[in-house]
Amino acid sequence: MISKDEIDDTLRGYNLDRLEICTLGTHTALQIAKGARDEGFRNLLLCTEKGAGFYGRLPVVDDIIEINSYSDILLDGIQDELIDRNVILIPHGSFVEYVGSKNITERLRVPMLGNRLVLEWESNRKMERRWFEEANLRVPREFKAPDEIDRLVMVKFPGARGGAGYFLAKSVDEFHKKLKEVDLPEHIKKEYTIQEYVIGTRFYPHFFYSPLNDELELLGMDIRYESNVDGLVRIPNIIQKEIKEGPSYVITGNIPVVLRESLLPDLMEIGRNLVEGSKRLFKPGVIGPFCVEMICTPELEFVCFEISGRIVAGTNLFIRGSTYSDILYNEPMSCGRRICREIRIARERNKLEEIIY
Ligand code: AMP
Repeated sequence: MISKDEIDDTLRGYNLDRLEICTLGTHTALQIAKGARDEGFRNLLLCTEKGAGFYGRLPVVDDIIEINSYSDILLDGIQDELIDRNVILIPHGSFVEYVGSKNITERLRVPMLGNRLVLEWESNRKMERRWFEEANLRVPREFKAPDEIDRLVMVKFPGARGGAGYFLAKSVDEFHKKLKEVDLPEHIKKEYTIQEYVIGTRFYPHFFYSPLNDELELLGMDIRYESNVDGLVRIPNIIQKEIKEGPSYVITGNIPVVLRESLLPDLMEIGRNLVEGSKRLFKPGVIGPFCVEMICTPELEFVCFEISGRIVAGTNLFIRGSTYSDILYNEPMSCGRRICREIRIARERNKLEEIIY
C-alpha cells in the first residue's frame, strides 16, 4: 500500500507552479485535457501507439508520452518521469480497468486526485452494495441461490463492465440453460450475481463532491446507449420473438437526460447520503466526481444498482457544461474542468494534501 505520507512527501517536493494534469489517453482524456487548459495547467496524456496518433494531433493536448500498454504507467521509469514533471494523475474508468484498483493502491507512487480506496469500493459489487446500504438507499433485491428466482432477474458477472455475458431469466430452469450457453470462462461464470430486474427509467447523475467547500454539486446526467438492448426495441414485438440473440448491454454511447425537476431534491439527498456513508466506510470518503446508476420506478422511487467513484464517460456529453452545471456556474463547466478547478483552489489555499492521495 502506498501510504498517504509517501504521497504527501512527493507533493512537498513538487514545484506547484508547474503542476501537470495527466491521465491515460482514452475514456475522458479530452475533457480532462481541456479542463486543465481552461484552469491554467499544462496537460499530459499517456497514450498507446494508436492513441498517440489521435491525441498527439489535437491542439488541446500539450504533450503525450507513448507507452506500449496502459499498465506501463506502473513501470518505475515512467513513474519517476511523471513525478519529475510534477504530475497529478486523474483516474477515469479505463484507468481503473487497465491498471487495476489493487495496483493503484499498492504500486502507483504518483500523486492522484481523490481517495484511492474509493476505486476498490466501486469495482467490487459486494462493497458497492455495502456502500449503498450504509447510505440507506434502495437497491435491487439479490437472490443468493438460483432456486430462489421468483421474478425477472438480471444475471451479472464480475469484471464485465459494459455487461459482457449478462442475461435475463425468469426461472431457475431458464437460469441454468442460459448460464450453460454464456460465452465466458468457467471461473467467471461461477461468480454470477442474480439481481432483481427493476423496471423503470434509468438515470446516471454525475455528482462532484468538494471536500474543500463541503459542497455536493450535480454537474450533469446521462443514460447509457447500450447495444443491442437499445437496438432491439426498434424491432416490432412479433419479429423480436423470432430473434434468438438475447439482449446485451455493451455501452456504445451516451444520451443526455434531465430529471423531472420535482425529483431533484431526492436525488441530491441520495448523493449526500453516499458522501456521508463513504466518510464512515473509507475515510476521508469520496472526493471529486462520482456517478450513481439508478432506475426510477413508477412510484418515483430510485433504485441504485452501480456506483463509479471517479469521472464517468457520460460526462463527455457536457464538455461545454450541462443544464445543471449552468445553474451553478456562469461559464462552461465540464466535470474534467471542475476537477482541475478543485486542484487550482486547493493549491491557492495550500490544501492540496486534502484532495490528493
Ligand atoms: P451494469 O454493468 O451493472 O452497469 O449494468 C449494465 C446495464 O444493465 C445497465 O446500464 C442497465 O441498462 C442494465 N441493468 C443493470 N442492472 C439492472 C437492474 N437491476 N434492473 C434493470 N436493468 C439493469
